[in-house]
Amino acid sequence: MKALDELTFDNRFARLGDAFSTHVLPDPLDEPRLVVASNAAMALLDLDPVVAETPVFAELFSGHKLWAEAEPRAMVYSGHQFGGYSPQLGDGRGLLLGEVYNQAGEHWDLHLKGAGLTPYSRMGDGRAVLRSSIREFLASEALHALGIPSSRALCVIGSNTPVWREKQERGAMVLRLARSHIRFGHFEYFYYTKKPEQQKELAEHVLSLHYPECMEQPEPYLAMFSEIVERNAEMIAKWQAYGFCHGVMNTDNMSILGITFDFGPFAFLDDFDAHFICNHSDHEGRYSFSNQVPIGQWNLSALAQALTPFISVDALKEALGLYLPLYQAHYLDLMRRRLGLTIAEEDDQKLVEQLLKLMQNSGVDYTLFFRRLGDESTALAVARLRDDFVDLAGFDAWAEQYKARVARDGDYSEAQRRERMHAVNPLYILRNYLAQNAIAAAESGDYSEVRRLHEVLSKPFEEQAGMEQYAQRPPDWGKHLEISCSS
Ligand code: AMP
Ligand code: MG
Repeated sequence: MKALDELTFDNRFARLGDAFSTHVLPDPLDEPRLVVASNAAMALLDLDPVVAETPVFAELFSGHKLWAEAEPRAMVYSGHQFGGYSPQLGDGRGLLLGEVYNQAGEHWDLHLKGAGLTPYSRMGDGRAVLRSSIREFLASEALHALGIPSSRALCVIGSNTPVWREKQERGAMVLRLARSHIRFGHFEYFYYTKKPEQQKELAEHVLSLHYPECMEQPEPYLAMFSEIVERNAEMIAKWQAYGFCHGVMNTDNMSILGITFDFGPFAFLDDFDAHFICNHSDHEGRYSFSNQVPIGQWNLSALAQALTPFISVDALKEALGLYLPLYQAHYLDLMRRRLGLTIAEEDDQKLVEQLLKLMQNSGVDYTLFFRRLGDESTALAVARLRDDFVDLAGFDAWAEQYKARVARDGDYSEAQRRERMHAVNPLYILRNYLAQNAIAAAESGDYSEVRRLHEVLSKPFEEQAGMEQYAQRPPDWGKHLEISCSS
């Protein structure tokens, strides 16, 4: 366990130089205070969790203090936003403080979001508000606990600094951790600004530090791109299987590591709805729940375009062609497990599709359905769940097929089945209304609800005593909360 001043820095991205990022000092927040910290994220830096409660912790992660070895930089990138190319984006309100390596030899980027103006702030104020910082914190740690690759969050620091959105709010900072903050948009920036030397440097940096195994392959860059395709296919399969809606899948928000990244107006589905749009500003539904799958491919094509200096178009196309089959294989595998099935059968895809259609028509709670399906024997579980459906004949027909399918799958005891299913079907997810309750309390100075919710979500598959209220369908007011990008 380390104290705060014992972190060891090795700022590899900063060393790429001024063509890649600009030195900027954080602009501190007034009267910083700890809102919430993640012990699991602290462990990634070998930090003793007790240090989160010390005043110096809040000072470091609100821009008042810096380690001597830190080198705060705003990264430059561009990207496709809602399908159109934005030639100049970059860290407009976040800074890469530096890279820390832990005892296991892993490097972690420390990125402070909400740290003030940078050369890339455009019309923005460089700030993040408490509500969006809490949302990013909770989602990062909840996704990780569900087994969905994601950037992590160390802490949220609140303050008295006024920040204007639709109304006056308070500024906050979230300390984000990731093995890298390089996005698809970094490659697009050097490609479209026609800077081949820097683009090569960037590609070598990513290859050698993040995809070293690809360096052994005959075509290292192609191997790297194929791996990125595979990781995205798997990540998006997990989003779809668990009902996660990212909300702003612009290419500047897509990590080169295939982790869930830079989510603002995200949501987990309550009722199953394939057409759900979580981003209030997404009028066309470009990033609706079911569109995430083709958009994943669209984004990879945009990256492929930026990699044409290194990889032939034919090879890129072939690698891109793997996205959908890989996605489908990962998705089906997860959905089978969610249904408690252990072997693959030809018609499983249909079984899943039929179920989702019935759930859609009846507005069935996506998370609770699967959890309850594993609570009891198959026959009892489907008999009880039947009440949630409007199309009873449709559900009965599905249930008959499902029971027959389970019988063919193997002869498991009820206890074995429950254990297996509960290990993949969470009881607790980050429902928007739960986040909203925690935010409302935090905005009035009470951080206990954010902390409790974070705790509960860190063990989503484990039934926790006295936490029944976190495993309920939303109340009417909490069903369709509008979340926009302006955070
Ligand atoms: P996002 O929608 O959060 O992914 O942000 C898109 C771009 O806008 C990025 O370049 C951000 O850094 C920038 N940006 C978002 N919010 C702000 C803000 N409040 N101040 C400055 N830049 C911002
Ligand atoms: Mg972004």
